[in-house]
Amino acid sequence: MTESAPIAVITGGAAGIGWQIGQRLASDGYRVVAVDRVPGLTAEENPAGVLWRELDVTDPVAVDRVFGEIEAELGPIAVLINNAGIQRHRGIEDLTWDEWSAVVNVNLHGVFACLQAAGRRMLANGGGRIVNISSISARGSAGRAPYATTKAAVIGLTSTAGAEWAARGVRVNAVAPGYVDTGVFQQGVAAGTLNPATILSRIPAGRLADANEIAAAVSFLVSDNASYMNGQTLYVDGGFMVDYGVPLAKKPE
Ligand code: NDP
Repeated sequence: MTESAPIAVITGGAAGIGWQIGQRLASDGYRVVAVDRVPGLTAEENPAGVLWRELDVTDPVAVDRVFGEIEAELGPIAVLINNAGIQRHRGIEDLTWDEWSAVVNVNLHGVFACLQAAGRRMLANGGGRIVNISSISARGSAGRAPYATTKAAVIGLTSTAGAEWAARGVRVNAVAPGYVDTGVFQQGVAAGTLNPATILSRIPAGRLADANEIAAAVSFLVSDNASYMNGQTLYVDGGFMVDYGVPLAKKPE
C-alpha cells in the first residue's frame, strides 16, 4: 500500500464482515479507511494498516464532514463499501417504534447518507465504485421485519443509483450474503432467536459463509473485472436463494 493508493472507505469496518472486506481491499492495493462507531482495531490485529475514523452513519452531517476530511487528507474516495448494519429480533406485533427506527436509521438512512455523500464526490471526481451490503433476509425474514425491509430497500437503492450514475462513471452494486458467523448472526444465536442447526439444514452448501467469501465478491465488484456491472445484487449464499428449503429425502436413482 502506497501513499498514492486509491482510497476505499468501509462503514462498520472495525468488526465482522466489514473487517474482512477491509483486509481484502488493502491486499488488493487500496488505502482503506474503516469508519465505525467503535475502534475495535489493535496494531497487532491490523497488519494491513487499515485506518480508522469514528463515524455514526445515522448522522448525515457527520458523514459528509468525515468523508470531506478523508478526501482532504488522503485523496479522492475511489470506493465506498456500505457495510454497517444492525438488527432487532422481535415479532411485528411486539416490535417497538424505537426498535424499528434504530434498524431503519442504520441500515437504510445510513446507507443512503453514505451513498449520497460518496456518490456526489465520485461524480465530481470523474468516477468511483460503491458496494452496498444487503442480505438474503431481503426476501422476508420472520422475526426480523425492520432488517428484512431495510435489506430489500438497499437492493432498490442500489439498482436506482446504478442506473442514475452509470453514464457518469460511478458503478453501484450490492452483495447479499448468506449467514456468516459474525456480529448479526452471533447476536441472534445468543438471543436464542436463530438456531444454527436449523439454518445449516436450510443451506444447500451445508455450511455458513466465511467472511472472506463475502470480501472476495466485494473485491470483484469494485474491480475492473466488473466494469460492465451496475445496479446488480450478487448473492453469496451457498445456494440459499435458489432453493426453497425442502431437501431431497434421498439421492435420486
Ligand atoms: P457486526 O456487528 O460484526 O459488524 C458491524 C459493524 O458495524 C460493527 O462494528 C458495528 O458497530 C458497526 N455499526 C453499527 N451501527 C453503526 C453506525 N450507526 N455507524 C457506524 N458503524 C456502525 O456485523 P456483521 O459483520 O455480521 O454484518 C455486517 C453487514 O453484513 C451488515 O450490514 C449485516 O446486515 C450484513 N449481513 C450479515 C450477515 C451475517 O450472517 N453476519 C448475513 C447477511 C448480511 P457496533 O458494534 O457499535 O454496533
